[in-house]
Amino acid sequence: MHAKVGMSLPKISKNNKSFSLLWMVLRTCPGLFVAAAQAETIEILYEQGEESGILAGDWGWLLLGFFAAFCVVIWLLRNHYTQRLAQQEELLERAQERLQDAQRIARIGSWTRNFETGESFWSREAKVVLGIDDPAKDLSHYESLVHPDDQDRVTEAIAAAYFQGGSYQCDHRVVCDNGSERYIRLAGQVFLGKGSSPVHETGTVQDITDRKLAELALQRSEARMRSILSAAPYPILIVELTEEYPVLFANESAYALFGISQEQTPEELKSREFWSDRDDRENFIESVLTESRVFETEMVMKSRDNKTFWASLTGSRLEFGGINSVFISIMDITDRKRIQQELERLATTDPLTGVFNRRSFFDTAYKEVRRAVRYSQPLAILMLDIDNFKAVNDNYGHQFGDTVLRRFAELVKSSLREEDLLGRVGGEEFCALLVSSQERGAYLVAERIRKRWMEEVFELQGSQVSFSVSIGIAIMLDETESMEDIMERADVGLYTAKRSGRNCVIVHNGDTHTSKQGKN
Ligand code: GH3
Ligand code: MG
Ligand code: MG
Repeated sequence: MHAKVGMSLPKISKNNKSFSLLWMVLRTCPGLFVAAAQAETIEILYEQGEESGILAGDWGWLLLGFFAAFCVVIWLLRNHYTQRLAQQEELLERAQERLQDAQRIARIGSWTRNFETGESFWSREAKVVLGIDDPAKDLSHYESLVHPDDQDRVTEAIAAAYFQGGSYQCDHRVVCDNGSERYIRLAGQVFLGKGSSPVHETGTVQDITDRKLAELALQRSEARMRSILSAAPYPILIVELTEEYPVLFANESAYALFGISQEQTPEELKSREFWSDRDDRENFIESVLTESRVFETEMVMKSRDNKTFWASLTGSRLEFGGINSVFISIMDITDRKRIQQELERLATTDPLTGVFNRRSFFDTAYKEVRRAVRYSQPLAILMLDIDNFKAVNDNYGHQFGDTVLRRFAELVKSSLREEDLLGRVGGEEFCALLVSSQERGAYLVAERIRKRWMEEVFELQGSQVSFSVSIGIAIMLDETESMEDIMERADVGLYTAKRSGRNCVIVHNGDTHTSKQGKN
């Protein structure tokens, strides 16, 4: 008896899995509440033993309530999922709008192509980028949009990716619907399936017209600049501002100046080949970097066959083909330098004997004394005066006197070392500065000169004549001595030699120093 109702109710109990959700809802919804109340009533009635026809009527209400609750649940579920679907659609729409905005701003369109179905998708911006007026236009044959001159290149790039998979990128032109041309950067990625056959590809199209036109304008202006520089009558080098300064450009005049063969491209040239001294190159470029522009700096350069020449360099910073570089114009000033050096030589040498003249001897000797003081090295000065020279002129003529002076200068010069100095400081008076020489060494040199000069024989009108010389010597006594001090003592030595009967050497190193005299 109890089982009659008790057996039917558990079918909708919360323990039954398939109805667990429904049960939950029924427990909370008013319809079930009524039904549950009714069930309790039935149980109570049953317990009270009142089994009657009212029970069947209550079951009808129960089913009706159950049905109503079911409908409510279905309605609620439908509402819930409809709302979620609407939300999802809204989110998707917003994401698509953002993607489209991003594509529009970046002027990049996207596309995909499925090789199995043959379907392709091109974003709205992709069509805008490609200049397609009709948004519904079919783009399954992209190649048909490509400029005829670029078609082979594009086909090649795409085909390579089809066979190997992976990505590709190809800049090319397209012809838009309105007939204009645009530069497009096509990038794609091909995905391979089984058997390495392409399954689908995806990629982007980007409008790079502005960039490309700017690049082309730059290339044109660079080409113009190159042609102007190439034809320039003076040699020009453009070197890159990196280690070892590789050559970016060399014009025809530079090729001629450095003796570069026409077969060589500028890229094959090394800038170090053109400088005689690496430091000169470093210093010059360093100056250009700090001062932006350097005018007419003189230095020695060298040509391909290792011939050195003097060059005047003007340099400035330059961006060449987008590369940081230095522009160098070169002028071969070897001739000018030779004339300049000749003028300097004339200004510093005695025209008769070719040794230093008085002024340049004193200038150079002054520096040598300072150097000797700095490095604490000994130094000696010799004053040499040909004896009775006035009589030579008087007896044999001025011209012969000149010959004697020339021979004397040659003899003294050949008796000194390369680093010693010799100057003509008076008519027949010479001065020699012996570097790193002590008293004894200087005395030996002076004695050798005196003896050699005595032995020097001049042929004149069938007879032979020879002359003598008097020499005064002084050495640098301490670091406080000036060049004039030393020279004055050497002069005193010479004066003493003359007074001693000439043809002798006198070392004069002050009162506290002994004098030496040599005479044959
Ligand atoms: P001492 O032994 O005392 O030195 O006598 P000296 O005759 O050599 O000296 P002095 O100073 O009396 O004469 C120097 C002469 O040198 C006078 C001048 O005619 C001559 N002399 C100076 N310069 C030149 C020159 O360039 N050429 C020639 N030929 N003679 C010159
Ligand atoms: Mg004399
Ligand atoms: Mg004299």
